[in-house]
Amino acid sequence: IHSKLPDVGTTIFSVMSKLAQEHGAINLSQGFPDFPIDSELANQVSAAMAAGHNQYAPMPGLPALRQALAAKLQASGSPVDAETQITITAGATQALFTAFAALLQPGDEAIVFDPSYDSYVPSIQVQGARAIRIPLRAPEFVIDWQRVAAAVTPHTRMIVINNPGNPSTAVLSADDLTELANLAEQHNLLVLSDEVYEHLVYDEARHHSVLADPRLAPRSLAVFSFGKTFHATGWKIGYCAGAAALMSEFRKVHQYLVFSVNTPAQHALATYLADASHYTSLPAFYQAKRDILRQGLANGPLRLLPCRGTYFQLVDYSALPSHLSELDDADFAIWLTREAGVAAIPLSPFYAERCGHKLIRLCFAKQTATLQAATARLASL
Ligand code: PMP
Ligand code: GLN
Repeated sequence: IHSKLPDVGTTIFSVMSKLAQEHGAINLSQGFPDFPIDSELANQVSAAMAAGHNQYAPMPGLPALRQALAAKLQASGSPVDAETQITITAGATQALFTAFAALLQPGDEAIVFDPSYDSYVPSIQVQGARAIRIPLRAPEFVIDWQRVAAAVTPHTRMIVINNPGNPSTAVLSADDLTELANLAEQHNLLVLSDEVYEHLVYDEARHHSVLADPRLAPRSLAVFSFGKTFHATGWKIGYCAGAAALMSEFRKVHQYLVFSVNTPAQHALATYLADASHYTSLPAFYQAKRDILRQGLANGPLRLLPCRGTYFQLVDYSALPSHLSELDDADFAIWLTREAGVAAIPLSPFYAERCGHKLIRLCFAKQTATLQAATARLASL
């Protein structure tokens, strides 16, 4: 077979979750909650099925859900038309893939920032386009805008941002969005903004959506995930919102990739979204979990990096005894799973080449008991 993706193996999330299972480790690797969804939401799905909402939804998504989302976006300063600017997708992953397929021509270049979420680069490459990878500047993982400007060529079509960033945990500032808008306008670029962690922003940080920026909104699509927002990663439902002209192209691909997505869940989400406290409560909810993890590790040998957003915490293991600190991050993550009973995600799979960081990512979307059991193991390394 002449592979379209010769360099792609199995995603690190599958690899580490499998290893965690094999070794009975506490799984802080792949990002998913270990607590149940709200029973109110679960009941609404059952009610939708019982009411007979079990056939195909309209191609762009249930009108009631798109209207609920338009109201939510409007309330956060992002005016979006439910009819022409929102499409419900099978998770953010499908939204991202669909956007790349709809907007990139073979030979186009799309700029992505490393460490980049692992689906971006293969999803760009399989379209025959090129991913131009620019590392974020450590240790704060900020964008070096001069470097971005220097990377723009006549082939550059798109800039991909992830805000808040997985696995960087960084949150873009208002100035970052201004820099992005300047560059995008100057070179007539599109922006694809992965905002699945829009509600998971902590301390004094604020989330700035491209959809709320009058200069970026006309050239952007943003993707979101109910899996992240409502603790239901297994539902695989999300949405894409943005400029009508781009959404029209997006839907041309979407209708033949999946046509439409799960009907009863869309009914349930439309009802559930009416109560804004279901998502406005999220920053405090996850900040408390972040702080349980951080406090549990504070006196141990792992050094905590700042965590401004997402439900991940980066830790540096370079202060461990040399037989451990000398391991690269992938080997250290395997050692930690096997020998210490805690599974984590190394950072190098999110880079073009060996990044040299001694960093691993821990997921804190877990019950208190899970976080305490994990920190007890990690603090005594
Ligand atoms: N983007 C980022 C940054 C993610 O972390 C994830 C995984 N949670 C996704 C996209 C994919 O989301 P979904 O599970 O809705 O496909
Ligand atoms: N987004 C999740 C993470 O970062 C994993 C999703 C997946 O397994 N593809 O861990």
